[in-house]
Amino acid sequence: MSTMTGVILPGNRQLELRDFPIPEPGHGQVLVRMKASSLCGSDLRAIYRPTDQGHGPEAYQGVIAGHEPCGIIERIGPDVEHFKVGDRVVLYHIAGCGQCRNCRNGWMISCTAEVGVEGGRAAYGWQRAGGHADFLLAEERTLVALPDELSYLDGAMAACGLGTAYAACLRAGISGRDNVLITGLGPVGIGAALLCRAMGARVVGVEAIPERIEFFKQLGFTEVVNSTDEQALSILREKTQGYGFEVAIDCSGNATARHTCLELAREWGRVVYVGEGGSVTFEPSPLLLHKQLTLYGSWVCSVPQMEELLEHLVRWNLHPDIMVTHRFALSQAKEAYELFDSGKTGKVAIVWE
Ligand SMILES: [Zn+2]
Ligand SMILES: [Zn+2]
Repeated sequence: MSTMTGVILPGNRQLELRDFPIPEPGHGQVLVRMKASSLCGSDLRAIYRPTDQGHGPEAYQGVIAGHEPCGIIERIGPDVEHFKVGDRVVLYHIAGCGQCRNCRNGWMISCTAEVGVEGGRAAYGWQRAGGHADFLLAEERTLVALPDELSYLDGAMAACGLGTAYAACLRAGISGRDNVLITGLGPVGIGAALLCRAMGARVVGVEAIPERIEFFKQLGFTEVVNSTDEQALSILREKTQGYGFEVAIDCSGNATARHTCLELAREWGRVVYVGEGGSVTFEPSPLLLHKQLTLYGSWVCSVPQMEELLEHLVRWNLHPDIMVTHRFALSQAKEAYELFDSGKTGKVAIVWE
């Protein structure tokens, strides 16, 4: 077998399955046999839905899609030092240059080398071939070992969305003392809720889409408020007897939700914006300064944080594959994207036997 199937996303809600040669790992590279490759909201927003491809600094390069890959090493190239054939691995989804200060600190998401050039910053599934294929060519420095206790689907969850949620929780310094408000119960919001609960905090969710509220409840969360309810703000205020939440995490990117986080944060509280896109307008004096709030922006996570997250998942016996509501074979990728695009699912994943 010398060819494999891969998914191309030409935009305008199109999806093509094409044949590609199976790549040969070069210096410092491994070939990963894919086992799970989940779909991410950012793929919908930036690649699947747009009607043109020329937008933004992260413009999709027409490569095999999928940036939440997890699998097993099939072959290794020369000078691979820390991994061997048969190792189960999660991929940190951005291959940075490995040389700049951010890369050396493990923040390859913030690699300062030019995007898309040889040796520069390249995200799997955006600027270089990603996980929606039978095999993936990966740089060793982007590999994180998947503990035996976790499934490949668990690993795929950690590759982007749950890692992003974890970093947001770290920024807020979540502990068992916190009442945590989470606005937006898409995959990142659900992930943040699972992690905050594991860290001992009380979680209250806010969401507008009924299917997402229902799924949140199925995961055992009892406190959730529909943001379209006219009484939403006062119901939420009562949840903390009017004191407000020690922590509020916006995972929606929605202007109203971001405002709600500031409004409902307790004095001296911490607010994290992790949901992408959109905007927000607020009066800093009453909402931020006079409440002595700390407002954090959080973007993805670092490679060491992803490693640490996997270790904690084992210790907490938390399997994030419970976030997956729908599984598809690679040949059904079109159906997978169409369903995920509805916004009514939990995580959707492509899986291999
Ligand atoms: Zn993602
Ligand atoms: Zn770099």
